[in-house]
Amino acid sequence: MRPSSIVTFVDEGCATAAGNLQLMVPAAPDVSVAVEAQHLVKSYGAVRAVDGVSFQVERGEIFGFLGANGAGKTTTLRMLCGLLKPTSGTALIEGIDIFVEPLKAKAKLGYLDEEPFVHPHLTGREFLDFVADLYRMPRGPERAERTERLLRLFELGNRDGELIGGYSHGMRQKIGLASLLIREPSVLLLDEPTNGLDPRSARLVKDLLEELAARGTTVLLSTHILEVAQALCRRVAIIDRGHITATGTMEELRAQTGTEQASLEDLFLQLTAGPESKEMIERLLAPKP
Ligand code: ATP
Repeated sequence: MRPSSIVTFVDEGCATAAGNLQLMVPAAPDVSVAVEAQHLVKSYGAVRAVDGVSFQVERGEIFGFLGANGAGKTTTLRMLCGLLKPTSGTALIEGIDIFVEPLKAKAKLGYLDEEPFVHPHLTGREFLDFVADLYRMPRGPERAERTERLLRLFELGNRDGELIGGYSHGMRQKIGLASLLIREPSVLLLDEPTNGLDPRSARLVKDLLEELAARGTTVLLSTHILEVAQALCRRVAIIDRGHITATGTMEELRAQTGTEQASLEDLFLQLTAGPESKEMIERLLAPKP
């Protein structure tokens, strides 16, 4: 096991707001696969929202989980983090079955839902304190300093006294992310982490995830924003109507589809079925007979 170490990084673009963020890097466990979905199925009556999804995310990797609206991304992530019981299949976090040893697996995990679970009646600082207490982080100067650094990093430091209930969507997203980072999980499952963020905040999150991954944190993120996936992720899985249609690097996806120069958007469109929008628009706008 690697010992915990303190590293400092400065995000040039956000230097004034963020200053230096000292991150306690979690001691990395000695496993090469950090997240594993094994034949996950979730049925709602006759609807199979997720239908036999399997993939592996390696430790220290940023892995993208892509799919159209309703494809099954959130359902899969909620099963992987232990929120939603699968109809069948197994979800492993660093080799631990999250439904067999939930506390052990969840101690390693930080999960950001597409609607972050944040407490509307607390201020940002109180919420971070609440989460730190929940996870029994010792009180003291180190924890207090980390709280301040996170609030500054996400430009929430000057909203003291304001309840989260009054936050904008983007601010709730940021305090949700800060509440994961306060306790340094070694695996992050993020459902649309840049959703609703302004370009500056989205850039901050991207830089932060890259830095965390470079220091051994595993990141599994779902996104609709293909530029985010293309910029951040070494490998992606594409899910379409509950099934994984492709997993791999850009090169592997291009080889699989036989398209050498394809962008991620081209590959996505090719690997997910959808109505031919051009034809539908023409039909919609066709002159009435
Ligand atoms: P989006 O990108 O729009 O958030 P998604 O890929 O995250 O979509 P899911 O939210 O996982 O998709 O939904 C997958 C499918 O499961 C959809 O058809 C959805 O209607 C269905 N579904 C999700 N939750 C339930 C539920 N509680 N009851 C019934 N059907 C559900």
